[in-house]
Amino acid sequence: MTEKRCYYEVLSVTQTASTDEISVAYRKMAIQYHPDKNPEDETAIGRFKEAAEAFEVLSDADKRSRYDRYGHAGLEGSGQQFHDLSDIFEAFGDMFGGGIFGGGSRGRRTRRGADIECDLSIDLFAAARGIKKQVSFSRHQRCEDCDGNGAAGGTALESCPYCGGHGQVIQSSGILRMQTTCPSCHGAGSTIREKCDNCRGDGYQEEAVTCDVAVPGGIDDQMQIRLTGQGHPSSNGGPPGDLYCLVHVEEHPLFTRQGNHLICKVPITYSQAVLGGTVEIPTLDGPESIEIKSGIRAGSVIKLSRRGMPDPRGRRAGDLHIQIDIDVPKKLSDEQEQAIRKLAELELSHVTPHRKSFLDTLKGYFVNQDQSS
Ligand SMILES: [Zn+2]
Ligand SMILES: [Zn+2]
Repeated sequence: MTEKRCYYEVLSVTQTASTDEISVAYRKMAIQYHPDKNPEDETAIGRFKEAAEAFEVLSDADKRSRYDRYGHAGLEGSGQQFHDLSDIFEAFGDMFGGGIFGGGSRGRRTRRGADIECDLSIDLFAAARGIKKQVSFSRHQRCEDCDGNGAAGGTALESCPYCGGHGQVIQSSGILRMQTTCPSCHGAGSTIREKCDNCRGDGYQEEAVTCDVAVPGGIDDQMQIRLTGQGHPSSNGGPPGDLYCLVHVEEHPLFTRQGNHLICKVPITYSQAVLGGTVEIPTLDGPESIEIKSGIRAGSVIKLSRRGMPDPRGRRAGDLHIQIDIDVPKKLSDEQEQAIRKLAELELSHVTPHRKSFLDTLKGYFVNQDQSS
């Protein structure tokens, strides 16, 4: 994918632009880059699509605030994705419709079904190994009683009296003469005289669906998995939408993730730090022992190459970074205390006396791992 430009930059507006300013800016762009005026000019078509996408986000208070906070990442998979020009005309065609450009009736093209979003929570080990999970969500199902047209018994629809069946009405605003979607039939061009009892005129019913999702190993929190064609069906014979599963990877008590690297803080004792020794550490594959060199300092990092998270795109796996922490015990046996006091005398300093918590967590972690495997 190519780098996305900032939506504000695309529309040449400031971050504080009002919705009106954004509409005006978008209209200007849309007129300038309209494909009818720039036939076969790929750059213009690109700009046209880009402007439509930017407008779609910035004109929606909710999406705009998500964009302001998280940038393009905050919007991934959410809402409208413009696959081709017809989608844009579908969404915004009425803003600058046939009236200005002489484009003719675009209202009758088939429409892609809407996308569905769902959430999927997994733990770090499932994220590392990959997992098959089931997700449940609600999806529109074509009503059988009316065969999806929403009229009782599937009877024929009537032409909308408001727009004469065109789905569009002409409105004049200043010097612009605009064609807009008919407020009565919302662009359908037809109305239902008697609504289908079964679906109350919607043409569909909600259906509970369960679907298998293959989560690839290495997936990270907030990544999305797209299941093509698993979204809502089209209302008029177009392709169905897609299902987007937003993955949540639960936080782990021992590992912190940074991209594909895993960071684990391991406390060692003062004597281990001074003298060196063998230390047990957690890895994704279970506990392991590593050697600590004598004289290691707090904050030192021991890198275990490619022992972090795999890459979901099959690139190089991340590393496991063991971060050494020197643990100062709170309780000492009499014997320990004597030894430490002796050391203090030798160092001509004086010393005062936590370690259980990490060991407990470590034990709990191994127990959990045994259960999950
Ligand atoms: Zn109408
Ligand atoms: Zn029905």
